Amino acid sequence: MVSAINKSDLALNGKDFFALYSREKTVAAYTLGCKVNAYDTQATLDILSGAGFLVAPFDSEADVYIINTCTVTSLSDSKSRQMLKKAKKTNPNALIVCMGCYAQTNPEKILDMGVDIVLGNKNRKDILKNIYDAAHEVRVNAVTNIDNDREFEEIEIESYGDRSRAFIKIEEGCDQFCTYCIIPFARGRVRSRKLASIVAQAEKLAKDGYKEVVLTGINLSWYGKGTGDKLEDVILALNDIDGLERIRIGSIEPGIFTEEFLSTISRAEKLCDHFHISLQSGSDTVLERMHRGYTAKQYKDEIDNIRNVYKNAGITTDIMTGFPGETEDEFSQTYEFIKEVGFSRLHVFPYSIREGTKAAKMDNQIPPKVKKERAAILTSLGQQLENDFTKKNIGIEQSVLYELIANDTVEGYTTNYIRVHAKGQNDDLYKVLTTQLTQIKNNICYGEINK
Ligand code: SF4
Repeated sequence: MVSAINKSDLALNGKDFFALYSREKTVAAYTLGCKVNAYDTQATLDILSGAGFLVAPFDSEADVYIINTCTVTSLSDSKSRQMLKKAKKTNPNALIVCMGCYAQTNPEKILDMGVDIVLGNKNRKDILKNIYDAAHEVRVNAVTNIDNDREFEEIEIESYGDRSRAFIKIEEGCDQFCTYCIIPFARGRVRSRKLASIVAQAEKLAKDGYKEVVLTGINLSWYGKGTGDKLEDVILALNDIDGLERIRIGSIEPGIFTEEFLSTISRAEKLCDHFHISLQSGSDTVLERMHRGYTAKQYKDEIDNIRNVYKNAGITTDIMTGFPGETEDEFSQTYEFIKEVGFSRLHVFPYSIREGTKAAKMDNQIPPKVKKERAAILTSLGQQLENDFTKKNIGIEQSVLYELIANDTVEGYTTNYIRVHAKGQNDDLYKVLTTQLTQIKNNICYGEINK
C-alpha cells in the first residue's frame, strides 16, 4: 500500500500533493490486448510520471501496478486475472490498479480479487485522485456507465517506449454491434478525437524524434462521427508535419476504401502502403450472422480499389474460426477467399463465447476442437501467404524503419509491413533507411542497408 498520508499535507493540491507523496515511488504497468489499450496505458503512466512516479519494469517490486485489461476473448479475461495475481504476488503491499475492457465489464468481480482501484475505460485522468483515495485504505470502484458518452476523452502521451513508432488514439468505441463482439459494451459508442488535437499530438511526437505514427481506434472507419472531421483530413494534415516520415493506418473495418477516399489519401506520400482490414469470415452467410454489414465481394472490391492505387500494398487481416453454425462448406469458402485475396499476413482466432452478446445465445455452437483445427489450418495458410508476399518483395529496394538491435543485426518494418533483418549498428536505429531485400530464410526476410 502507498505510505500513509500526512494530514497536514491534505491542503496541497493535485500535482503538489502527488509530487510530495510519489517521490521515489515506482509504478509498473502491463498491457493486454490492442494498440488502443497500449495508448491508454502510456497516457496513464505519463500522468503518474508527471506527478513524480518512477516507471519500473513490470517484474520488479513496484509501489503501484497498473494492469490494463482486455476482454475480447475468454482467454483475454483469464490472462487479465493472471496478471493481477502476478502483480499482487510480486509485491503484496503494492497498490493494484485494474483498468481497461475487462475492468469496465466486470468491476465487482475484480474488486473481489483484492484489487485496490478498478478504473475501466473512462476518467483515466482521475488516476491520481484514485491513488490518493486508495492510499487512505479505501477500495475505489471508479467504473461508470459509458453507454451515453459521446465526447472523446482527451488523454495525451508524452513518449512511447523506443523512439521509432508511436501510436495515436484518434477514436474510441463502436456502434456496429457485431453479434460476437463485447467491445461496444466495454468501450461505449463512437467518439472521435478532434483534428486539431491529433495534429498537436503528432507534432509533439515528431519533435521528440518519432518517425512514424500509427493512427488507432476501436473502429477507425467510423472516425469523424460526432465531430464532422474525416480520416482523410487527419492523414493529409499529418502528412504536412516536419520530421514525421511515416503515417500508418492501424486496424480498420471495411467500408471506407472507396475510389474517392483512396484518391484523396494517395496525395499523402508519407502514408504507408499497409492496410489491416478485419475480414472475420469469407462466407456471406457467416458474415450475415455476424452482422458485419458487408459481403465477401464487397470486401474484395475494396481490396481491388486499394491495389489499383498501392500496387505492392501489404494487406493483413483478422479471421475468426468456428463462429456458431459455421459449416464445413462455409469454412471452405473462407479458406478459398483468403487465397483469392492473397493477404500478406493473417491473425487467426477461434471464436470465443462472450456473455451478453447475441452469438452467445445462438444454436450450433462449434466444439472447441473443431474451432482450433480450423484455426490451425488457416494459420498455416497465413504463413504460406506471408512467405509468398515476402518472396515477391525480394530484390526490391524498400525503406525500413529500424527499431531494434541485437548482435549487430537491426530489425524493422518496411512501409508494406515486412519485418526485415539487416547487418547494422546503433547508429541505424530509429532511422528510415533504404534497404535492398535480399533473401528469405526460415521465414525471416533479410536485407542490406544501402549506405
Ligand atoms: S466492428 Fe464489430 S468486431 Fe469491431 S469492435 Fe465493433 S462490434 Fe467489435
